[in-house]
Amino acid sequence: MYKINHEIILKGNAELSNKIFEDKELSNGINPIFKCNKCEIENSFTIIPFNTGFSFSDLIEKEFLREPFLLKEKIVSEAFGIYAYSNKYLVDGLPPIYFALNCKNCNQPHICIFGFGERQQGYFVCSIAGIWEIEEKDLNTPT
Ligand SMILES: [Zn+2]
Repeated sequence: MYKINHEIILKGNAELSNKIFEDKELSNGINPIFKCNKCEIENSFTIIPFNTGFSFSDLIEKEFLREPFLLKEKIVSEAFGIYAYSNKYLVDGLPPIYFALNCKNCNQPHICIFGFGERQQGYFVCSIAGIWEIEEKDLNTPT
């Protein structure tokens, strides 16, 4: 798992085993499986609450990922009311987090975007918005 440090484009949405994890399911971390969008090999990854992932706001502020696309595709929604105090966007009503990872077989980069937080007091939820194949935007631009 790694941070993104250049502008990316989201391509195909990868197939994911399970998207919502709640409460006790989260205590030892979760291990969802996704099918690589390019070679179709199954990959597993681990999300450990309060540990896995990086600031999603950072990704938007640095313009590595374009906001209109994310809103249009309903990957994130704009936060309102008290939520807007700490987060500009939400995933399924939860603060968004992301990480990038490569397919173990073909090395294709993917991004995972998920929301993690308290749905009610003391009741935590991890909701995965999805995993997408990504492409560096300037990859083929001559320098
Ligand atoms: Zn692959």
